[in-house]
Amino acid sequence: MNAPERIAKDRLFLADTHEVINVSSELTDTNLYTHDMALVEGVRREGAGWAHDKLTAFGALTGSAEYLELGVQANQNPPELDTHDRFGRRIDRVRFHPAYHTLMRTAIEHGLHSSPWTDPGTGAHVARAAHTYLHTQVEAGHGCPITMTFAAVPSLRTTPALAALWEPKITARTYDPRNVPDAQKAGLTIGMAMTEKQGGSDVRANTTRAFPIGAEGPGQAYELVGHKYFVSAPMCDAFLVLAQTEAGLSCFLLPRWRPDGSKNPMQVLRLKRKMGNVSNASSETELRGALAWMVGEEGRGVRTIIEMVAMTRFDCMVGSTAGQRAALAQALHHCGQRSAFGRVLNQQPLMRNVLADLALETEGALALTLRIARALDHRDDAHEDHLVRLVTAVGKYWICKRTPHHAYEAMECIGGSGVMEDSPFPRLFRESPVNAIWEGSGNVQCLDVLRAMQKTPAVVEAFFAEVGKARGANAALDRHVAGIATMLRDPGDAEYRARDLVDRMALAIQGALLQQHAPTFVADAFCASRLEGAGHRNYGTLPREADCVAIIRRASPTL
Ligand SMILES: Cc1cc2nc3c(=O)[nH]c(=O)nc-3n(C[C@H](O)[C@H](O)[C@H](O)COP(=O)(O)OP(=O)(O)OC[C@H]3O[C@@H](n4cnc5c(N)ncnc54)[C@H](O)[C@@H]3O)c2cc1C
Repeated sequence: MNAPERIAKDRLFLADTHEVINVSSELTDTNLYTHDMALVEGVRREGAGWAHDKLTAFGALTGSAEYLELGVQANQNPPELDTHDRFGRRIDRVRFHPAYHTLMRTAIEHGLHSSPWTDPGTGAHVARAAHTYLHTQVEAGHGCPITMTFAAVPSLRTTPALAALWEPKITARTYDPRNVPDAQKAGLTIGMAMTEKQGGSDVRANTTRAFPIGAEGPGQAYELVGHKYFVSAPMCDAFLVLAQTEAGLSCFLLPRWRPDGSKNPMQVLRLKRKMGNVSNASSETELRGALAWMVGEEGRGVRTIIEMVAMTRFDCMVGSTAGQRAALAQALHHCGQRSAFGRVLNQQPLMRNVLADLALETEGALALTLRIARALDHRDDAHEDHLVRLVTAVGKYWICKRTPHHAYEAMECIGGSGVMEDSPFPRLFRESPVNAIWEGSGNVQCLDVLRAMQKTPAVVEAFFAEVGKARGANAALDRHVAGIATMLRDPGDAEYRARDLVDRMALAIQGALLQQHAPTFVADAFCASRLEGAGHRNYGTLPREADCVAIIRRASPTL
């Protein structure tokens, strides 16, 4: 070898600095449905076994590398507002990345915004919740307008004349994102505008005023003057809005365009700069005499819009459970590939404890969510209706509140690379607090649980009947439920103690569901850790007898 040849070889050798070993891989091209054992069982158990084939196909789509990339793109390219066109005309148009539109289109074509209304029956809400849970694992932000469109229907039905006009296009499986009047579209999306600067939880503080144009009352036209400080998905075709009339706070349907084809003056001032939920536009608006039709009875706006809020709260349970599943799947996948100190991470005893604990949390959340989905399918049954009324607030509070710590702990399973922006965790983590805050923040949910129990004592009986289905299965659960009954006999300082009560109720109902339906190794580890053990402290504190290997295998996203 002559000198130049030797130098060239040495350079090549120096460039080849190291072999990349002991690293994980992308978790793609799995089936998000069939690889989620607790989901497959839950869907069948709660009445939607008929949707198995559809969900299998949807699971393959949502787990594919190409489809998962849409979630990345929709968040790396946030929406942008154009208040005016280049000639100076007011347009209030938000531009989204094509990936966002693809996600919206898929959601609508699969009926995630409407299927229980167009095809009601056994398992309708369960099947829709399962589809939504899969789609949210790809991307959460677009779920906001999908949920609001879905949730608007029960409120709208309080005024049949308006429902007859609007519902067919709201429930149609056609996505049309054009900025044109609703009359020109075959499918419509609906938003919700309640929150004002001076009050979000306490909407009675709303100052936006509604002035009748002619006749007054349900279905009649008004003009609204005021502002709304949070209006998500401002490209929706119409919004359910709260405003004051002489008789008090009332609910209205406000279209983005007037029937004469002119722009309805709900003007978008700016988009919020959010830490999470980035693909979804959330705006600040002013209403400058915007046309709207009254929905429900005058002065009963909260009662009318609460029909919508009940559904959006349920979807917060679905969404946060999906967030937990997405984080868990990443953690399980990574820890099955990475070794440290001579063993694959999921064989290190302490990591097993953490992973199994995260899996128990997710399975408890899923069991509760699917149970409420079934209750939604059977609201004509008093017991199921009472569960919806009480346990939706319990579940919304508990599952959404447990999710940020779950996301963070799953991120830590990845180690340093989990913190990097090119990992899925920054998005999962930033998304994780949102569901807890909107649609009634934590305290508001707990106070709502108290209100439901005071107003309709039968909901308390329904709760005990439901958890009573697991009586005798687990001694810790029996003691825990008895403790709740004792708490309820003492009405003193009820508001002050409400979180303590609702925490315990959530654990009781999750424990009871798992005792009835999950494998013993899941149910007993859940009850041992959460009802009497240290599970309320950090993840990874399961008791010695927990079968972590079995729990981890059951939750695996690739088996
Ligand atoms: C990303 C995002 C998008 C949103 N999109 C929309 C939208 O499209 N439409 C819309 O109408 N709103 C929207 N909101 C607003 C959201 O619903 C409100 O932020 C929420 O209802 C809380 O209202 P607030 O911000 O005024 O807080 P406040 O009402 O001031 O509450 C602050 C805190 O006080 C607590 N609190 C309130 N009352 C009590 C009490 N009696 N006892 C104890 N604690 C109490 C609350 O739980 C909360 O923790 C959005 C919010 C976010 C973050």
